[in-house]
Amino acid sequence: RSKASAHNGCLLYDAGMTECYSAYLTLGGGLRKAIEEGQFELYYQPKIRSTDEYAVGAEALLRWHHPEWGMIPPDQFIPVAEESGLILPLGEWVIRRACQHIQEWQSLGLPPINVSVNLSGRQFLQHDLVDIVQGILTETKIDPKYLELELTESMLMSDAHETIKKLHAFREMGIMLSIDDFGTGYSSLAYLKKFPIQSLKIDRSFIQDLGVDSDDDAIVKATIAMAQSLNLKVVAEGVESRSQMNLLTNYQCQEVQGFLFAKPMSSTDFVEYLNNRGPDLEAFIDPETL
Ligand code: C2E
Ligand code: MG
Ligand code: MG
Ligand code: MG
Repeated sequence: RSKASAHNGCLLYDAGMTECYSAYLTLGGGLRKAIEEGQFELYYQPKIRSTDEYAVGAEALLRWHHPEWGMIPPDQFIPVAEESGLILPLGEWVIRRACQHIQEWQSLGLPPINVSVNLSGRQFLQHDLVDIVQGILTETKIDPKYLELELTESMLMSDAHETIKKLHAFREMGIMLSIDDFGTGYSSLAYLKKFPIQSLKIDRSFIQDLGVDSDDDAIVKATIAMAQSLNLKVVAEGVESRSQMNLLTNYQCQEVQGFLFAKPMSSTDFVEYLNNRGPDLEAFIDPETL
């Protein structure tokens, strides 16, 4: 059962609020209106390369600025949007907006950056998803290699044949694919071989107690080693401390994302962040001298 029904339809409570306003949300009216009235915004959280701590990418994270209730986090409205089906127009808006931002940043003269977008389960099952994405790429004229789609383990488990077809279609277009929240879903590792993906994002729950809980150390270390031998890039999510970062660097985790480096921010702030991020040290390493 989805989160929305598990909570008996009551998703959001506020201390001062007596009524549960999920009815409003589940009706879809709120979400539909929010799309039309531009209440959604994409925030961006930098992805940091471990070797020189240089920002090499970003994850697009959806924010809903509600005129009365303020900022509603995605964990609270995505399940509602999934149930009502509004995730389809909303998810399409997210992909389009991210591609427009990639295009905008490049036109500002910034070096191109990889942006990943989260897909939801229902959105991934959408039969014309590949065409929709192709349309957005044509419309925004961005190089598809800068767009990455984040999938979750559960999405890959449903209908293997259809899933593989879809993933190959994305790969043929040049889009990058990654598995989000890795380690929290089904434990079968067979799909890592079966599906054409390029990277894994280790879930924050394994990073949280790194250096404190030796089980987490073992899991993270083994996941990175396995990913490397399968030629997959590894990104650690939710890195909050220097000690976590040191361990991840020791384990040779290629990229990290977390509050230690930056919180998700508006596109305007992200442009400023990119402009201030300093030199790309690896760009100055002359392979001839190695
Ligand atoms: P996710 O894709 O795993 O995204 C990472 C989440 O971890 C984000 O939460 C981010 O703000 C948070 N985070 C990053 N670094 C840290 C850290 O150091 N400490 C802590 N405590 N948190 C950190 P956010 O933005 O609230 O998003 C939550 C989830 O909502 C996402 O998890 C994703 O599953 C979903 N989501 C967000 N945007 C979209 C979207 O556009 N479409 C879909 N389908 N889902 C989305
Ligand atoms: Mg994600
Ligand atoms: Mg995640
Ligand atoms: Mg998540």
